[in-house]
Amino acid sequence: MEVINRYITIKNHIDAVPQHSDFELRSSSLSLSLDPASDEVIVKNLYVSIDPYQLNRMKSYSSSQKSSEFAVAITPGEDIDAYGVGKVVASENPNFGKGDIVAGLLKWGEFTVVKPGGMLNKLDPMGFPLSYHVGILGFSGLTAYAGFFEICKPKKGEKVFVSAALGSVGNLVGQFAKVLGCYVVGCTGSKEKVALLKEKLGFDDAFNYREEPDLESTLQRYFPEGIDIYFDNVGGDMQEAAVSNMNINGRIAVCGVISEYTDREKRAAPSMIDVIYKRIKIQGFLAGDYLNLFGDFLSTTCDHLRTEKIQPLEDISDGVESIPSALVNLFRGQNIGKKIVRIAEE
Ligand code: NAP
Repeated sequence: MEVINRYITIKNHIDAVPQHSDFELRSSSLSLSLDPASDEVIVKNLYVSIDPYQLNRMKSYSSSQKSSEFAVAITPGEDIDAYGVGKVVASENPNFGKGDIVAGLLKWGEFTVVKPGGMLNKLDPMGFPLSYHVGILGFSGLTAYAGFFEICKPKKGEKVFVSAALGSVGNLVGQFAKVLGCYVVGCTGSKEKVALLKEKLGFDDAFNYREEPDLESTLQRYFPEGIDIYFDNVGGDMQEAAVSNMNINGRIAVCGVISEYTDREKRAAPSMIDVIYKRIKIQGFLAGDYLNLFGDFLSTTCDHLRTEKIQPLEDISDGVESIPSALVNLFRGQNIGKKIVRIAEE
């Protein structure tokens, strides 16, 4: 049997703010009859993750492209891999059978042919919607958990600042910090998002960075006693302002620098004198290095979801054709929580 597989690719490298016109929807026919010796699996994609780092893969050059197997460069015209959840429709791999629900590295398309050695695991949804396993119970969740608990080493009562705080990773960092008993302030890009942080997610305070001409004094206002932990999702000016406001022995987890992804010239230049004299620890990290924590992360997060100590925040659009706008809109701040595209109903 053959099916038509529609998938998204880039038309050209993207070295600036991404636009819809950088992408194209292609289709090809795909046989669902596999060679018995192939060890391959064909997955019908159900949900795929939309993540800012994909833009760095789409550039003609980014130093990130050599950092990890997940960050390799994407060539125009080729299909694009991304984390997702799907259903096995054909398998010659003894570990998977038709009908299995799986999570792993799929494609921004309707089907994925997973080669031997590809990242694919059977998924037990544990009573949660499948989309949760792409976001809050997937890599975004692990990023927030590992970055906050392992890198920031938080203590109850500490003062925590989170940027891109209503995004996929940021909202969870803030919620984990609140459960621990920290004082949490987030920044985000609109009045409506500020209200959601305070009223829906229980942040102690929040502000719209677009309305603040002097970020250093803004942070002084929100943290008159200084910041103990900064969870950095944006880099740039915000990182510089946070460093100026850090307390002695403060910790900064550099999770992402999205404000620098679309602007080659933009680089945070935090005061190194502050870093030294305040003994600030600044550490970058990749969630993929913390798979050893996945079990702990999953059981903690599932417990918090069941007891409603934390809330899932998802932003789901439908259909493979909506993938380009889903990615483009991340860079316009138009997502609320984890951006996911539902490719097909289960
Ligand atoms: P996200 O926060 O859900 O979406 C991106 C958000 O960033 C937007 O909603 C927007 O919200 C904000 N933003 C966009 N352009 C901006 C700019 N120029 N300046 C300031 N804010 C901007 O995305 P995510 O998946 O949770 O990722 C957040 C960060 O973590 C990214 O930098 C990403 O690359 C990084 N990350 C790292 C790892 C890792 O392993 N280290 C894993 C996952 C993600 P506003 O309304 O607030 O502007």
